[in-house]
Amino acid sequence: MAKAIKYVEQVGVYAAKGVWAVFERLNRISPNPGFAPKWSDIPLQKSWQKEKPPLGWPRTTDSLCPKCVPEIRQQILDGKLPHEVLLNEKVGEIKAQIIERDGQILMVKDCPKHGHFEDLMSIDAPFFKHLEESFPGRDVRAHGEGDKNLHHHGTSTVTHGRGSVLTIDLTNRCNMMCDPCFMDANQVGFVHELTWDEIKTMLDNAITVKPKRQMSVQFSGGEPTLSPYFLDAVAYARKVGYNSVQAASNGIEFAKSKELCRAAAEAGLRYVYLQFDGIGNAANSHRKVGNLFDVKLQAINNLYEAGVDIVPVTTIINGINNEQVGRIIQFALDNPKKINFLSFQPVSFTGRDEDISEERRLAQRYTLSHMAKDVKTQTGMGDLVRDWFPISFMSTFSDWADLIHGPAADWGALSCGCHPNCGIGMAVMIDKETKEAVPVTAFLKYGQGIQGYRQDQRRCPRKIPLHLRHGARTHAQLRSLHGAHPLQDH
Ligand code: SF4
Repeated sequence: MAKAIKYVEQVGVYAAKGVWAVFERLNRISPNPGFAPKWSDIPLQKSWQKEKPPLGWPRTTDSLCPKCVPEIRQQILDGKLPHEVLLNEKVGEIKAQIIERDGQILMVKDCPKHGHFEDLMSIDAPFFKHLEESFPGRDVRAHGEGDKNLHHHGTSTVTHGRGSVLTIDLTNRCNMMCDPCFMDANQVGFVHELTWDEIKTMLDNAITVKPKRQMSVQFSGGEPTLSPYFLDAVAYARKVGYNSVQAASNGIEFAKSKELCRAAAEAGLRYVYLQFDGIGNAANSHRKVGNLFDVKLQAINNLYEAGVDIVPVTTIINGINNEQVGRIIQFALDNPKKINFLSFQPVSFTGRDEDISEERRLAQRYTLSHMAKDVKTQTGMGDLVRDWFPISFMSTFSDWADLIHGPAADWGALSCGCHPNCGIGMAVMIDKETKEAVPVTAFLKYGQGIQGYRQDQRRCPRKIPLHLRHGARTHAQLRSLHGAHPLQDH
């Protein structure tokens, strides 16, 4: 009987493939033009219409001199240079080359004043190539009132889409004193805290950018829960229409107070991005709080009880805590009801770590490829090319959601499509009873989707500027692991 069902399944698979092939052919004959929804003045793009940044290697990219930048910042703070130089001039910028050497991808650059710099982008060139080749392309150009008024950041101005995370630093106060701290919280000698009017203005202004897509609004800091406006800010962000409102927190206040967790949930907080360095107090001891892991567990329990989702976020430093990757994933697999996402963020050596020595930076640099390999080595899960995809690949599903929601929708779906080297993700299916976990791509061929997309690209070769120069919750639950790259080019 089981054998018969297998044969029937096989027939079903072949029939579905045949129907899809016919549909694909017919669809190519005369595709309908994209429509302009309420949230964008520019029509939705077909996959072959999407632009890409220059990819492949060797290539030249825009970069910064790590020595010029702090010098210029100090001159601006000292009043010797007007801050407008950041908007109108390319201060601190130099060209960099992205090259392959010994199977690794490096960024190399020379500053006329400070000399030669090298940094590591990937320890696995084929994996880097796979990520770049899986990039579906950018969103439509940013436009609308908000674009005119807000997007003036010099060379780093947002040109496509609207980004996927709106981070609002509510305060630079913190109840910890970590090293690393990418914000240099507490140490700068003054308190910088947004007023209520400033918070409202930021949220209101952000809505005026088109395409008006959903974004994750992330309140950060310092420690955002220390701001007197934390709960009001969460409530206001929900009120103006953002669905995914988050707090990037060390969890101390949530561990101390179930009441705060309940109030945050009532205000509309959906996620807490919880600082999470590893399993056990020893793995957290570099933050100089003796029982920090116990604090995290208490925060997770309090938030879970209140109905707020928890995303443990681990800053990974090579040689310091990268051996924790597998243990953290196991912790999430062991707690499937409480943990839906995991996020690993390779250390970026900014803020308090800006003055790092060349040797320490190279030794501690942790790239997306380090992470994918550590996950494989430590958990046995995740085939590098089959199971990992650039976060931007999720914009394919956003496009689909936009089509389904139609022209009358008030908001577009959240879309993260800036660059394939920005971050990677893997979706995992877990059986909540047996705790068995399998990457979704082990049985769902996302590679086929890419192939279809590439065929699309080939179909209209003259229309697209291609820059690839060289190169259900029932028993099972879907969860994802992702990492963000510390070293990007644009
Ligand atoms: S908890 Fe976060 S903001 Fe506070 S000192 Fe540590 S890293 Fe910095």
